[in-house]
Amino acid sequence: MTKYIFVTGGVLSSVGKGVVTASIGLLIKSMGYNVTAVKIDPYINVDAGTMNPYAHGEVFVTEDGGETDLDLGHYERFLNINLSKKNNITTGQVFYSVIIKERKGEYLGATVQIIPHVTDEIKNRIREVAKETGADVVLVEIGGTVGDIEGLPFLEAARQMRLEEGYSNTLFVHVALVPTLRTTGEQKTKPVQHSVQELRRIGIQPDIIVARSEKPLNAEARRKIALYSNVPLEAVISDYDVDTIYEVPLLLFEQGLLKIVTDRLRLEYREPDLSSWIDFVTKLKSASKIVKIAMVGKYTKLKDSYISIVEALKHGAAYLGLRPVLKWIESTDIEQGRLDIDAELSEVDGAIILPGFGKRGSEGKIRAIKILRESGKPVLGICFGFQLMVVEIARNLIGLEKANSTELDPSTPHPVIDLLPSQQDITMLGGTMRLGAKPIKLLRGTKVFEAYGRDVIFERHRHRYGVNPKYLERFEDVGFTVSGFSYDGVIEFMELRGHPFFVGTQAHPEFKSRPLAPSPIYMHFLRHCAS
Ligand code: GLN
Repeated sequence: MTKYIFVTGGVLSSVGKGVVTASIGLLIKSMGYNVTAVKIDPYINVDAGTMNPYAHGEVFVTEDGGETDLDLGHYERFLNINLSKKNNITTGQVFYSVIIKERKGEYLGATVQIIPHVTDEIKNRIREVAKETGADVVLVEIGGTVGDIEGLPFLEAARQMRLEEGYSNTLFVHVALVPTLRTTGEQKTKPVQHSVQELRRIGIQPDIIVARSEKPLNAEARRKIALYSNVPLEAVISDYDVDTIYEVPLLLFEQGLLKIVTDRLRLEYREPDLSSWIDFVTKLKSASKIVKIAMVGKYTKLKDSYISIVEALKHGAAYLGLRPVLKWIESTDIEQGRLDIDAELSEVDGAIILPGFGKRGSEGKIRAIKILRESGKPVLGICFGFQLMVVEIARNLIGLEKANSTELDPSTPHPVIDLLPSQQDITMLGGTMRLGAKPIKLLRGTKVFEAYGRDVIFERHRHRYGVNPKYLERFEDVGFTVSGFSYDGVIEFMELRGHPFFVGTQAHPEFKSRPLAPSPIYMHFLRHCAS
């Protein structure tokens, strides 16, 4: 029998529900169970691909090419498994299917309604993930905050699942903020009480309350939360601020979370094996040698826009005994002369040229690339960052002054980056980029081969443009050489001979980096930054 754990959020968004969900998953997996996790996003977009990173943070790409919520990144990193696009359910997807079914006549004769048709569709989608993965435990995180109108059909579906699947097969975890008053230092539980009341009003009694607070929850706050939420005292778990999100599973474990979960779900309790996780956290926290890395991008105001890259740097650095210190450089500021980019870059040990879209900020990135190339500092360009490395070399080493990407200048005389042939006839914008994992052939004797040590690797993608093969010979002539390509003809990696580390990739290797399996190319980049 599959067990379902629903995770809801109260009081505010961004309290770390995704990390709590991933942490519970890791703990259960460490007991030897097969676990998967589903994120529900109650917005009407079919997927996260059409949203601005400012609105939503990073778009996480799955192996099968789903453009999903960044919480799937947390799940993959903590659980160390690949998820599918089916693990992200949105209102858009649910209504889309219901309406298509209605048009096909599948509900013929009925008035199609939120209950039961929409809620049935939601339950079917959750159960389908359970069936396809064969998971013993499916975690279902319901995005947003209890009380949001958009979330209601999903909460209603979860309520129904408790009845249908049975009490011992379903568990509700409510993650809510406990603010501390600055004046008195008091932990205030009233907002949690209200959000739990709201949950109970719609028929859901939480089993566990995870209280997010700055400092560990004090006895009085814990007592109040237990009383007003109608849960036993030990089912109030304190999730206070820690140095790194990777400590959260350990925090939950120490407070007996697994005992409560296994008792309630009638799962056999097994001593979890957390040794490699603890080893990673220990390395992460004890790493002391600082490497300063410039993060050159356009969405630097919201750090979540590049969360997988930041995490990939942490993973690799931990194993090298390094502590990355990130210096965020807004590429639009470079363009508009608002910062002294030479001075900024002279302080760092290396730079990542971040992915992105559109013209704004692109010339700023190209300036930064030129400085980094000339000063011999390690550079790793990711996707759009790589494309701009190609443009920079075309302009400044080959001498094609007006070289550009046709994404930025459709009438450039030297389209060194151009729309991929496979993208030519596409008109719809949702889910139509070159997406997901593709096999990449690496060339021996290159830095990329040194990093991976394998002839064929799989990395994930999300782009429409790529290197124009017509210019390859001219790039080779100046020492900018192809070090990896895809079987569909896409240039996947290039690197500059004679430079300590000037590597760009069309892929997004950060999506596959995990604490227990750090990305080889990020790690190799860090090695060069430290040397
Ligand atoms: N805008 C570029 C493209 O579509 C790069 C995308 C990215 O960086 N993910 O090809």
